[in-house]
Amino acid sequence: MARLVMKFGGTSVATVERIKNAARHVKREFDAGHEVAVVVSAMSGKTNELVGWCKEAAALHDQAEYDVVVASGEQVTSGLMAIVLQELGLPARSWQGWQIPIYGSDAHGSSRIEAVEPAGIVAGFDRNREIAVCSGFQGVHALTNRIVTLGRGGSDTSAVALAAGLKADRCDIYTDVDGVYTTDPRVVPKARRMDKVSFEEMLEMASLGSKVLQVRSVEIAMVQRVPTYVRSSFDDPDNPKTGTLICDEDDIVEQQIVTGIAFSRDEAQITLRRVADQPGVAAAIFGPLADANINVDMIIQVVSDDQATTDITFTVPTADFERARTLLESRHDQIAYQSLQGATDVVKISAIGVGMRSHAGVAARAFRALAEKGINIRAITTSEIKFSVLIDAAYTELAVRTLHSLYGLDAA
Ligand code: ADP
Ligand code: ASP
Ligand code: MG
Repeated sequence: MARLVMKFGGTSVATVERIKNAARHVKREFDAGHEVAVVVSAMSGKTNELVGWCKEAAALHDQAEYDVVVASGEQVTSGLMAIVLQELGLPARSWQGWQIPIYGSDAHGSSRIEAVEPAGIVAGFDRNREIAVCSGFQGVHALTNRIVTLGRGGSDTSAVALAAGLKADRCDIYTDVDGVYTTDPRVVPKARRMDKVSFEEMLEMASLGSKVLQVRSVEIAMVQRVPTYVRSSFDDPDNPKTGTLICDEDDIVEQQIVTGIAFSRDEAQITLRRVADQPGVAAAIFGPLADANINVDMIIQVVSDDQATTDITFTVPTADFERARTLLESRHDQIAYQSLQGATDVVKISAIGVGMRSHAGVAARAFRALAEKGINIRAITTSEIKFSVLIDAAYTELAVRTLHSLYGLDAA
């Protein structure tokens, strides 16, 4: 007998019919004798609708009340799933975040899980192997007793954190693809499913735009050593496949140099032209951005022909672009730049692979291949196991496909 967490994402519970199908996967595991906790997302499209209603109610709304509204999507699904499981003759009970409880920080809209105390769920396991159907995405802040949500895609994190809290043998993330691919299979039909991917690589892929798992869920899986599988809810419940295991690097026998390509449209570029080239200028620009909680990602600095000034280009999340621009414009006098240019029609393409640690020139090959396709690179960053380039958004698919083939990732 094992203890399992099974998470079903939005498309997997999009209709009552789909919930019934997901429930058959749960029944299979229950019938095999396992203790099962289920984590559900809101029905596909529901969270967007709820977010839209908050914006319609007030452009600048209270974030604590936003959480009350958007957490409701998962509540509906948990109740429906419990009803459907009961209909199959299984003992099942729904659990909201506050009932488990899952404690989160008071950063409303992007709360971080601080503790999971699932004694009530364990009591249900002990009593009659009761299936706990938990709402993903939500928790409660211990001090204020208010509902919090974990950021978009947060049900993955609920599932992995619950698996850690329950000391589960496995966390299965059921979604609309049958595993983690070398890149988004919706963009590159030749993408290949991986049997295994290391925690480190999955963490980079998720951070760099592969939204198949929320970044925080991978962090928790890595730190708490939760064996996590990504697999398809559309498999035949009586004959399922295994999907992709996220595991230690050492457990992967055949390592590629590059294992995956990720891309993110969530990036905007700002260039400050002819900034005085003197000590303290970077601090004058990036200090206020940091104080305003704006994350700066890529940075490049180029000395101009006059040798006295420099051009500084950097990227910020698209959502913070206007705020960053307004802030820098308000500091025009202190920073002393000639002009500010911004672009939001850009995309960041990244290649990830632990093999980069021991191989030189991996990125250089990409620069050459992109140049041959006439794709201009606006900015570059590299680190130990990944590199990223910023390019015009119009070239997204071409660039992803080019790098995917370049590193030998295309399916035969
Ligand atoms: P869920 O609603 O189940 O949480 P998501 O839409 O959040 O599902 O995540 C699954 C989607 O992630 C897939 O449909 C796929 O388009 C996308 N995706 C992006 N990158 C990858 C990748 N490398 N491998 C698999 N899926 C990916
Ligand atoms: N329903 C939430 C969202 O759409 C959480 C999730 O699906 O993981 O972001
Ligand atoms: Mg998701």
